[in-house]
Amino acid sequence: MPVIDYKCPNCGSGMVFDGRTGALTCQGCGRQDNIEGIPDPLEQVSAEDQRREYQCNSCGAAIMADAVTTATVCSFCGSAAVLGDRLTGELAPAKVLPFLISKEEAMVAFRKWCRNGLLTPDGFMTADRIKGITGVYVPFWLYELHNRVEVHGHATKVRTYTRGDYQYTETQHYAVYRKLRLNYVNLPIDASEKMNDELMDKLEPFPYERMKGFKSPYLAGYIADKYSYDEQALLPRAKEKIRSYIESSISSAVTGYTSVSFTDKQIDTTMKQADYCLIPVWMVKYDYNRSEYVFAMNGQTGKVVGKPPISKAKVAAWFAGVSGATFLSLKVISWMMGGGFL
Ligand SMILES: [Zn+2]
Ligand SMILES: [Zn+2]
Repeated sequence: MPVIDYKCPNCGSGMVFDGRTGALTCQGCGRQDNIEGIPDPLEQVSAEDQRREYQCNSCGAAIMADAVTTATVCSFCGSAAVLGDRLTGELAPAKVLPFLISKEEAMVAFRKWCRNGLLTPDGFMTADRIKGITGVYVPFWLYELHNRVEVHGHATKVRTYTRGDYQYTETQHYAVYRKLRLNYVNLPIDASEKMNDELMDKLEPFPYERMKGFKSPYLAGYIADKYSYDEQALLPRAKEKIRSYIESSISSAVTGYTSVSFTDKQIDTTMKQADYCLIPVWMVKYDYNRSEYVFAMNGQTGKVVGKPPISKAKVAAWFAGVSGATFLSLKVISWMMGGGFL
């Protein structure tokens, strides 16, 4: 059976992963099972069994899944459905960062983010939209990159002093050579085609010390995708991401000069390791007036990114109401600019 669901041994109801208790939890009787302690049903699934169509184990309905889905929820009966054949072999995640923030907490944060509708267009914050909050495990590669850096350059020290009636400027010239070993661990790169890279970068940092070895019950009740790009395909992006850290390490290794110019920089990067990981994100995605807006929340730390639509009419009305109170107006402007929406 390539579709895995998690039935309660007591009452037969569906079980889902509850981030607050960290346990696989029965929605019927409340039984809680520690995920580390139970055998993963994934161990009985073979990757050769890859399918295009899946059926819900509970109600028999066809499961709506696109080509990259690895975990979803049956749209008829609500059972968790984990597509086991897409999580084995080379598609087996090494690690998972489980959800810690609950759906209720994410819903409260979404309301707050919309300022309870104070400035968002009418009808934007409907109950439907709030219910549409989805817990998604986003596929990532976590890189360990080792770098051998060698730089050559030219530096000067300039000294000015006065002797008698004369002012002297003395310039000393130096040949600069530095050799650095710079190793970076836990460098995350989003491996999902569907996710906006910039948005995912903004959700960082993730507490990697809370990562667990992958077990499929962590996905029960959530949506998950497999990676769209492998670790080799994303290596250039990983190198690009550490570039600014390398540059600042080089700068701080060459100090005490008036000027420094580099003639040659050699950066030799080795990919020591790349782990396929799943990272928790609460999401609401929506179109409004032909623009796409995304609410995204780090499922471990609660950090929120994205920008809600703003109703110009409501902002104007609000301006009229608070004219004279300059600091409030300034605050509204900063919201409109999308800056301080916290
Ligand atoms: Zn039960
Ligand atoms: Zn079903």
